[in-house]
Amino acid sequence: MMSVPRFWRNTKARYRMIGRRCRRCGQVYFPPRNLCRRCRRRGELEEVQLSGRGEVYSFTVIRTPPVGFERSAPYVMALVKLEEGPMVTAQLADVEPEEVRIGMKVRSVFRKIQEDGEAGLIYYGFKFVPVEGEHDVQGE
Ligand SMILES: [Zn+2]
Repeated sequence: MMSVPRFWRNTKARYRMIGRRCRRCGQVYFPPRNLCRRCRRRGELEEVQLSGRGEVYSFTVIRTPPVGFERSAPYVMALVKLEEGPMVTAQLADVEPEEVRIGMKVRSVFRKIQEDGEAGLIYYGFKFVPVEGEHDVQGE
């Protein structure tokens, strides 16, 4: 458990979903990129705080998870289209696989992603949960 606080500190900046926006064309990138795909060298990217809100664009139910994710199976990996435009692949939480549908409104939360029992490491990152009011949200 000793390694957790340090890891947390290192990733704290990612808790706020920070992307980059091109000043020239307005395209938003997340994860942040160094170069605008459209404008290349003519573009100028600036940091922008994203709302973390979006909707499910497509999704897959994972029933045979990779090593380290066994305990959370089955779970849903979704391609989420953020309000600002970028597409993000992330796990959906607080929702049953049968309840997920295309176009469902979601918001990002900072959650435990994976636990490595042998190394005692816990990894954190973004997941998406249904926006309240659309579903009966249950705690983990
Ligand atoms: Zn651009």
